[in-house]
Amino acid sequence: MMGFDLIFGPSVERGPRNRRIYLTFDDGPNERATPAILETLAAARVPAAFFMVGDHVRRFPRTARDVAGAGHLVGNHTYNHVKLHFAGPKKIRTQLRKTHDAIESVMGVTPRSFRAPHGFRSPFLISIIVDMSYTVFGWTFGVFDTAKPGVEQIRRRVRKRLRPGAIVLLHDGDGYDPEGDRMQTAKALPGIIEDAQADGYGFGSLSELLGNHS
Ligand SMILES: [Zn+2]
Repeated sequence: MMGFDLIFGPSVERGPRNRRIYLTFDDGPNERATPAILETLAAARVPAAFFMVGDHVRRFPRTARDVAGAGHLVGNHTYNHVKLHFAGPKKIRTQLRKTHDAIESVMGVTPRSFRAPHGFRSPFLISIIVDMSYTVFGWTFGVFDTAKPGVEQIRRRVRKRLRPGAIVLLHDGDGYDPEGDRMQTAKALPGIIEDAQADGYGFGSLSELLGNHS
């Protein structure tokens, strides 16, 4: 369940091996894809996690609030989607702190988790994460939905890779373009949920895995 690396610290990359999977959406909020995704999740009563870019939270406060209002887990994904392996400790701390503050002030919730853009972690991250009492999440698999391979392709790739406890990486936004188009992912979601249920999976919330490291 846990990845542990002496330099980069612990990161949760998979849940317990039961018939549960965890849907996660990165790089939002986004004014088009996020509401569509929220609607699908609500209709199917499926929880998810959203790792948000702080700058997008400030730009689209209403959409950000809708995510929290629907009860989904909200995590920190830096302020400007910076690649941490190129950043010094001061920059990393500022990126995380600014996003933490944006989520708290705009959405009224306190984030307790972090996911690194592109999965690039940094040796400077550990002490910052400990100070902020965060859990770091990775993912079990992604499907390159940001390359827009087509709605059916995104759906098929998820079904093929599903396994017990999988943390599935999808995107409701574009880390570098607040207007970036993620509608293929949004349109694939109803089929993804349908397939997973047909294969006997239920959906868990990443909040179950918070603090799941020692
Ligand atoms: Zn990202």
